Amino acid sequence: MTSPWHHKPFTFRALAKTFGPMWLRCDVCRRYARFRMVDGLADIDYRTKTFSCSRCGAEAYMAVVEPIKETGMADYRLDELDNPQRHQAAADRLTGRHPRACVNLAAGELPGRKVDGRR
Ligand SMILES: [Zn+2]
Repeated sequence: MTSPWHHKPFTFRALAKTFGPMWLRCDVCRRYARFRMVDGLADIDYRTKTFSCSRCGAEAYMAVVEPIKETGMADYRLDELDNPQRHQAAADRLTGRHPRACVNLAAGELPGRKVDGRR
């Protein structure tokens, strides 16, 4: 039996109504966590949101099938954190900062080379 569809399209609520439980997975760590509908997320357009891994900061992907039940993903492990925080690498990526790409050229001197102050 079906009931009238009264959910706003493209929201996390509509997604959860359609697919039921969902997961977020990191393909770098090969870990996943249950997707939790935290306060304020239900009416957000899921197309505007991205997720990242709280362990390594890589992009995380929503999954409608539990990763370990997918072919070739049997080694993924459920790894849920009580209070996951955004990884600094993800924050840097999202804000367009690339701290590792910032190389101090030290006025052209090679790294580790002693600069003779008398010159
Ligand atoms: Zn990761």
